[in-house]
Amino acid sequence: MKMNLSRRSSIFLFALLGWTLFGQDSGQDRKPDATLKVPGATIDVTLPDEAMKLSREELLDWVRNSAHAVTNYYGHFPVPHLALRVRSGSGSGIRHGVTYPRDGGLIFVSVGRDTDVAETKEDWVLVHEMIHLAFPSMPDEQHWIEEGISTYVEPVARVRVGLMPLDEMWRSFIRDMPKGEPEQGDEGLDNTHTWGRTYWGGGMFCLLADVRIRERTGNRKGLQDALRGINNGGGNISEDWEIERALALGDKATGTTVLRDLYRQMRDKPAPADLDQLWKKLGVDLRNRVVTYNEKAPEAGIRKAIATPPAATARARQ
Ligand SMILES: [Zn+2]
Repeated sequence: MKMNLSRRSSIFLFALLGWTLFGQDSGQDRKPDATLKVPGATIDVTLPDEAMKLSREELLDWVRNSAHAVTNYYGHFPVPHLALRVRSGSGSGIRHGVTYPRDGGLIFVSVGRDTDVAETKEDWVLVHEMIHLAFPSMPDEQHWIEEGISTYVEPVARVRVGLMPLDEMWRSFIRDMPKGEPEQGDEGLDNTHTWGRTYWGGGMFCLLADVRIRERTGNRKGLQDALRGINNGGGNISEDWEIERALALGDKATGTTVLRDLYRQMRDKPAPADLDQLWKKLGVDLRNRVVTYNEKAPEAGIRKAIATPPAATARARQ
């Protein structure tokens, strides 16, 4: 989740969230418990005071692994400094991630006291939040692209560093992407602020953009190049940009007009996607929870370029 509010209400909500979700001590003035160096950035981490099943090192490994997935996707960590406040919660699991533009990047994330190492390896929340750092802050109408990028890039980035099995990524895309399709009365992504259209409608925009960029460039460029172009051009969470500026910069990086064209198609009209046709073209199918691949599909090469785990890349090079 990314907080996308006017400065005044953001300060109010920040205080309220700090108080309700994360306890009276929001960690604002506390010294960091650890400072991690990652390519291009420093991450100041504040850890929970309470006893946790996870050790300090295990918690920091989880932060390092999440940062590695994001760094690998963007080429470097997307902002030079991040303040990460890890709070403890009841039970097990990682929840309640929130990212703010404050001080160049601030993430709150809640970790259950019973969470174990296996759960940190499967966590998507922190990667999702860190991806928010890499895109400029948008007006409310375009909140869908902020959530859409995090929804789509998070599994792709995790697969690429071996933190998520490839089958799981496609299973979730085939199962969940239809939640982003327009329903009756839809007025396009800029005007329909439902959960499905914000997260998965935005995710669908990213998937369609990724495939189209690859179609137009002979599979040499993809959404990753566009998003790197935006981040390298100064686009990050601390910046307030209009969407057109970000999309133009992304298009420049791929030498196409895919992002701007797709935005024009989807911003104020329902523009449903034929996802079944898309999966067929890419050569991926889901039946009884089992993912199968068709290497003879016309765009099997594009499917592989979207996300390949490191082991498979190594095998392909041999
Ligand atoms: Zn989010």
